[in-house]
Amino acid sequence: MSEYLDATALRELAEQAEAEQAASTPCACTKTPLDGWQSQPLSLDETQFVEIGTLLSPDYGAEPEPTFSEYLPGATNYWSADAPIAPRYFPYNRCSVWRCSSCGRLYLRYTEGGGYFVDRRIRALRSTLIEDVPL
Ligand SMILES: [Zn+2]
Repeated sequence: MSEYLDATALRELAEQAEAEQAASTPCACTKTPLDGWQSQPLSLDETQFVEIGTLLSPDYGAEPEPTFSEYLPGATNYWSADAPIAPRYFPYNRCSVWRCSSCGRLYLRYTEGGGYFVDRRIRALRSTLIEDVPL
């Protein structure tokens, strides 16, 4: 079980990672821009990532599935690079948080779809986009 992170914990983690890592440090994980959601690029080396936490609330053991509602104010859409990261909303409420072991950058990942359609998605975590919005 990985550690549950609420919006506050997530923001702290993101700020810490951003402070530690020079934004310009080149790394294999930045080859494809991941500012917005992307299907996980084939170039990405899975073994380079370490899971450090989850945004899936521990309450969901007993409850029905987390909501599929999205929080997309203004002109943002699911794919926008500036779409807010609202941990209670889809798809963030299903994400786990991963750290690149070479550069320390943080990423969110989840599996989109089900049945015959399964797509692993990844997005870079940016502290400034995190919004603690209630459902
Ligand atoms: Zn990296």
